[in-house]
Amino acid sequence: MSCFGGDPNFCPECGNVLPLPGLHDTVTCPRCAFSIPVREFSSQKITSTVVFNTLELSSVTVEDEDSELKGAVIDRRCSRCNKEGMVYHTRQMRSADEGQTVFFTCIHCRYQEKEDS
Ligand SMILES: [Zn+2]
Ligand SMILES: [Zn+2]
Repeated sequence: MSCFGGDPNFCPECGNVLPLPGLHDTVTCPRCAFSIPVREFSSQKITSTVVFNTLELSSVTVEDEDSELKGAVIDRRCSRCNKEGMVYHTRQMRSADEGQTVFFTCIHCRYQEKEDS
């Protein structure tokens, strides 16, 4: 009587009862060391789902807003995510008298800060 709910599998070489498949890819006969790939082993345990959602992974594409991230990366700390590394770029305002406005874009979370000079 097997407590595993199925007929035990026998070694085709020596007829010894094979152990249940464990963590390995093969089942090895303890008597003659004959080994069988687990896929050929007639156990329904092996058909457990190994379905990874590769579609979901590939759909996570990089955002297309990289234009904001072109520039010199400086050691400024982002005030939102608190990581260092922001892209520094300037933008001329309408009037020359107002000078430049400096923008910082966080390379981690894309948070934007601006600073008038
Ligand atoms: Zn054997
Ligand atoms: Zn950030």
